[in-house]
Amino acid sequence: MKIYNTLTKKKEEFVPVHEGKVGMYVCGPTVYNYIHIGNARPMIIFDTVRRYFEYKGYEVNYVSNFTDVDDKIIKKANEEGVSAMEIAERYINECKQDMEALNVKPATHQPRATEEIDGMIRMIETLIEKNHAYEVNGTVYFKTRSFKEYGKLSKKNIDDLEAGHRDIKVRGEDGKNDPLDFVLWKPKKEGEIAWNSPWGEGRPGWHIECSEMSKKYIGDTIDIHAGGEDLIFPHHENEIAQSEACNGECFSKYWMHNGFLNIDNRKMSKSAGNFFTVRDISEKYPLQVIRFFMLSAHYRNPLNFSADLVESAKNGLDRILTAIELLREVADKNQENMTQEEAKHFEDIKGLVKKYEDAMEDDFNTADAIAAVFEMVRISNSTVKDGSGEYAKKILEIVEKLCDILGIETTREQELLDDDIEQLIEDRQTARKEKNFARADEIRDELLAKGIVLEDTREGVKWKRA
Ligand code: AMP
Ligand code: ZN
Repeated sequence: MKIYNTLTKKKEEFVPVHEGKVGMYVCGPTVYNYIHIGNARPMIIFDTVRRYFEYKGYEVNYVSNFTDVDDKIIKKANEEGVSAMEIAERYINECKQDMEALNVKPATHQPRATEEIDGMIRMIETLIEKNHAYEVNGTVYFKTRSFKEYGKLSKKNIDDLEAGHRDIKVRGEDGKNDPLDFVLWKPKKEGEIAWNSPWGEGRPGWHIECSEMSKKYIGDTIDIHAGGEDLIFPHHENEIAQSEACNGECFSKYWMHNGFLNIDNRKMSKSAGNFFTVRDISEKYPLQVIRFFMLSAHYRNPLNFSADLVESAKNGLDRILTAIELLREVADKNQENMTQEEAKHFEDIKGLVKKYEDAMEDDFNTADAIAAVFEMVRISNSTVKDGSGEYAKKILEIVEKLCDILGIETTREQELLDDDIEQLIEDRQTARKEKNFARADEIRDELLAKGIVLEDTREGVKWKRA
């Protein structure tokens, strides 16, 4: 299996640290709002990577954290007049709900940064002991130049970075010995959440959180560390420096980074008005479609999100689901054995399984893997209709398995979209006009059972999701 490793900028053969096992760490979201569809991309991609390793028989220890202490969380808490923990708790729950709807498997471990502070303090202490860090007035800094390989992931030259930071040094904004140094522990500010430490009350820097959680739940050397490409610098570069300086071991053998998701070819941003949460999108499309859409492109390429492209993903997924329905129908209907003719087609199908696996083993090329599924669907649609039950069943098993690796559910979603709701409300109005109150009530109950509450107002019927 080949993986493109950001560290070496090459596709490399995957060799696990421990035979038959994979330890992977995926940087998780900072929880101060609903996750947006950009955040969903690494979740879907790396969940698929995990599923493929599991299909190949590996035991996967998949660790993904929640960053539940951060300036943005504190800002939101102050705006709402509630505690930072309350904000984090709320959005962790919402995030888990979105992940479930995206069919992202729960991680083996999902640590929260605030529950791992002791381990972070221990790591910082070790870094100070080893002369890789120092304290100034309650702030602990990592001595960037003490780590000789700094820049090896992002391919940045330390002297160029120094030039970029000179203005900060001139302004003397902080107590750093060197403008390249970064924060491991910051002192408490008035009104902020804080923990006790040998350097006074305060909280950890963002980078040390992942170094510690990855060490604790996987070990000093992990197989794969992953996240969006924006994390390469400084986050992952700093994680490497901290972990390797502290543990004296290679931190992660492979580094995987997904490309960014843009909207209508523009960067997603709140101010540009093209910012969508997963929750917003779930009201327009079944999230299965979004998952399928994300997997239709190579994970390292940028991905453009537009109504047309999502619509075409919807049609593609529909084609697969319709073929599966037909396979189920034939498999249930008859007990006949596979004919010789069918056996020949089945060999072609098995050849496509190989094509699918080859695509996945070439740096998880899900686009080509999906193309192999489409070819299977084409063969199946043209041969299965009047075919034997055995033939249908065998193809079904394969297609279901391959969809499962992609995290695509093979039964159609029963989720109600905005348009479906509007249609049902219209049907209810018609039933009422026709004095068919039983039918009108039935529609109201049906909607209620799916969490849609109707309200009859003077301006007409209004609805909301409960
Ligand atoms: P954050 O909460 O900003 O730390 O992001 C959580 C994860 O989502 C990280 O792996 C980011 O790299 C990733 N991410 C954020 N925005 C996007 C985007 N527009 N496209 C793809 N990945 C993103
Ligand atoms: Zn991280």
